[in-house]
Parts: sequence; C-alpha cells; structure tokens
Amino acid sequence: MKLINYLIIQIIPFLPKVFVRLVASPYIAGITDDEMLVNVQKLNNKGYDVAIDILGEHVKTEKEATEITERYANLYDRITSQDLNANLSIKLSHIGQDLGYDIVKKNLLILVGAAKKNSNFLRLDMENIPYTSETIKLYKEVFKDYNKIGIVIQAYLHRSMQDIKTLSSNSFNVRICKGIYVEDPELVFSSYQDIRRNYISLVKEALKRGAYVGIATHDEYLMDELYKWILENNISKKSFEFQVLHGVPMHKKLKKLIDDGNTVRVYVPYGDNWYDYSVRRLKENPKMAGYIIKNLFSSIFRLK
Ligand SMILES: Cc1cc2nc3c(=O)[nH]c(=O)nc-3n(C[C@H](O)[C@H](O)[C@H](O)COP(=O)(O)OP(=O)(O)OC[C@H]3O[C@@H](n4cnc5c(N)ncnc54)[C@H](O)[C@@H]3O)c2cc1C
Repeated sequence: MKLINYLIIQIIPFLPKVFVRLVASPYIAGITDDEMLVNVQKLNNKGYDVAIDILGEHVKTEKEATEITERYANLYDRITSQDLNANLSIKLSHIGQDLGYDIVKKNLLILVGAAKKNSNFLRLDMENIPYTSETIKLYKEVFKDYNKIGIVIQAYLHRSMQDIKTLSSNSFNVRICKGIYVEDPELVFSSYQDIRRNYISLVKEALKRGAYVGIATHDEYLMDELYKWILENNISKKSFEFQVLHGVPMHKKLKKLIDDGNTVRVYVPYGDNWYDYSVRRLKENPKMAGYIIKNLFSSIFRLK
C-alpha cells in the first residue's frame, strides 16, 4: 500500500484537476459560502453540529488577510440569520500570522468581536510547530476579552501534556487531534501506538481538570476506548463532543453516538483553495492517498 500511496502522490500534480476534484469532493463542502451553508443545513438536519473552515493558509498580503477576516466575520452573521448550529474554526496563518504579530492579533480581535456579537464560538486550529507557542499566546490574550474561544492540542507533540496541564480549567475548550504535519522527529512521538497512548492520556487529563474536550479522530479504537472510560466515569455529556472531518465515511457509528445523546461535530472545509489544499495535504501525509483510493473504489462500485 505504501508503494501505491507513493506513486499516487508522484502523479497527482499531472492529473487533470477534474479528477482530483472527483476523488477529493467528499471532503470539500462546496466552493461558495452559499453552497457550504446548504451543506451545513443538511448536516444540522441529520443531527450534526458543524465547524466551518474556509480553505487556505499562509496568506502573503495584508489585503488577503483582511478579506478572509471579513468573510469569516460575515459567516457568523449568516449562521445567526439562518439559525444554523455551527461555529468557525480558523487557521491563524490564514488571517495573517506570517505577516506579523500585530496584524494577526488585529484580525483575530475582529473575529472574536464577531463571535461575541453573535454569541458564537471560535476555534483556532493548530498548525505546525513554529506556530504552536504563538497560537497559544494569542489564544490566551484574546480569551481575556471573550471566553467562547478554543484551541487545538496535537497528541503527537511531546509538549502537549504540559500544555494541557497548564491550560486546562473549567472554561478551557480544547480539540484534541493526533496532528497532521510532518515534524522534527525529536519533538514528536513517532510510533502509532505512542500517539494513541498520548491521545488517551491527554483527553482524560483535560476532562479530569474540567475542560470541554472535542475528541477529533476517526480512529475507532480511540473513540471506543474513550467513550467507555467516559461512561464508566460518569463524565457529563456537556463536557465533550466527537469531531470528524466532512466526508469520512463513518455515518453509522456517528449516528449511534448522536442517538445516545452525544454531540458530534463535522468539520466542514470549503472554498476556492480546494485544489492546493487537497494536493498539499496529500503530499504532507501520504496516508491520505490510501483514503482517496478507497474512496475512488467505493464511488466506482456505487456507480455500478
Ligand atoms: C475535526 C478535526 C479537526 C482537526 N484539526 C486539526 C488541527 O487543527 N491541526 C492538526 O494538526 N490536525 C488536525 N486534524 C487532523 C488530525 O490531526 C489527523 O491528522 C487526522 O484526523 C487523521 O488522524 P485520525 O485521528 O483520524 O487517525 P488515523 O490513524 O489517521 O485514522 C484512523 C482511521 O480513520 C480513517 N481515516 C482517517 N482519516 C480519513 C480520511 N480523511 N478519509 C477517510 N478515512 C479516514 C482511516 O481508515 C484510518 O485507519 C483534525 C482532524 C479532525 C477530525
């Protein structure tokens, strides 16, 4: 499978865009705001909560950063006016983190203001290691203005347990994921089992310290182990939610969780940057190629 993944990654840049769009389409919830919002409504109708992400990162100009910030701020108003059950999940590099601290902080404060006006929630996605400390710093600074704001902690990082211990409290809202970026091996757990072990420890530690935890994984072993522990320890359903990426085929399991009274949130990425995003993600994480192949085969069989 590793060889097939490798070959696919090598040929992706030469494939017609329409082909990449076909295989990546389950993961993307549309190009325009309107298309995405229709999908959000459909997900809400099925019982899912949603986190919306405009695809893109590492903007190069202040103008782009301002435009994205305004688009995000406008989304809060549309979520409210359409009475959708959705919040926003943003990358700081998308609103200007590479352009300087003052610029990203200014844009972040605009978004916090828009979230506050709409009594909604804002999540800061976690990017790669050069951004980790600054993301936490910015989170802490804007949290003083408004506490319906959360961050992401990555289970593959050695530092994460310390971060959970330092940050956890009754008003700490954290998404815990494994981590998607290729990092310096010195700074991360490399074995699959070590990452799983750390993931479980982080979720338990955060919940014990009173935090609200978004359990963001498609790893059914982790979901099952943690859910078992949650039930055994009478953890309130108001203290956690499950989170998955749009398009990952696990509706049956998620439906069961919703039927049991749990919150399940779907992360909904959309926008013009779908192509770059899909290709970059595939290159960064060759495992994704395997998922795409699986997807392609299942769509071929669906067509038959
Ligand atoms: C809601 C959400 C938000 C995230 N936010 C961040 C973030 O801010 N920063 C960050 O670094 N990472 C983020 N991630 C990505 C995360 O770190 C992982 O890289 C990604 O979720 C894959 O890890 P996994 O826990 O699903 O486990 P894996 O071991 O990778 O996958 C478990 C199983 O799930 C299935 N699977 C996993 N992904 C897919 C897929 N895309 N399509 C089909 N099947 C799949 C596979 O069958 C696999 O065997 C986020 C993930 C989610 C779900």
